[in-house]
Amino acid sequence: MSVTKTSKDDIYSGDLILVNAMHGIVSEVTSPLVPVHPSAPSILMCSHAADALNRLMREIDGWTSIVPVSGWRSREEQQKIWDDSLEENGIAFTRKYVAVPGHSEHQTGLAIDLGLRQEPLDFICPAFPDSGICRIFREKAAGHGFILRYPAGKEKITGIAHEPWHFRYVGIPHAEIMAREGLVLEEYIDFIRQTDLF
Ligand SMILES: [Zn+2]
Repeated sequence: MSVTKTSKDDIYSGDLILVNAMHGIVSEVTSPLVPVHPSAPSILMCSHAADALNRLMREIDGWTSIVPVSGWRSREEQQKIWDDSLEENGIAFTRKYVAVPGHSEHQTGLAIDLGLRQEPLDFICPAFPDSGICRIFREKAAGHGFILRYPAGKEKITGIAHEPWHFRYVGIPHAEIMAREGLVLEEYIDFIRQTDLF
């Protein structure tokens, strides 16, 4: 029988916090919220995640071509996005791309939506193609603690459609292991529960 050092409660706190359709957010943000970039003072992340994002962006000169689209959201903001999308796009689209209020990773302060700098910018589904600077960002992300949270082919596990623009800070070494092993957060948490690596 394997012995786990990760208690069940660990998934509700810290950088590995799991928020999805089955796990609603239960804890507040773990570090102060700060603007991710001076050009967008209202887009916030936890300071340690924002620092990691800016280190990555400096390395690839990312902010010249990529803009932050959405960071931390309060429950009220998530509710408004849900309601607005429902009215504008209908229930099928909204269920596919907008998390139910209380179940959005954006409420953790550890998630960021990024888009290619272009007009018009789609707030819910920003362009983040698999080429150029966006591909470079994706390749470097794990080395700075970020994962593509909702990859193609894992929709049944994450419960969310492929979102090439949504990145989640989980820290190192978690992001590197997940990228190397091709695991999404739900799978990785199951994996560490079954091992005594951490
Ligand atoms: Zn997002």
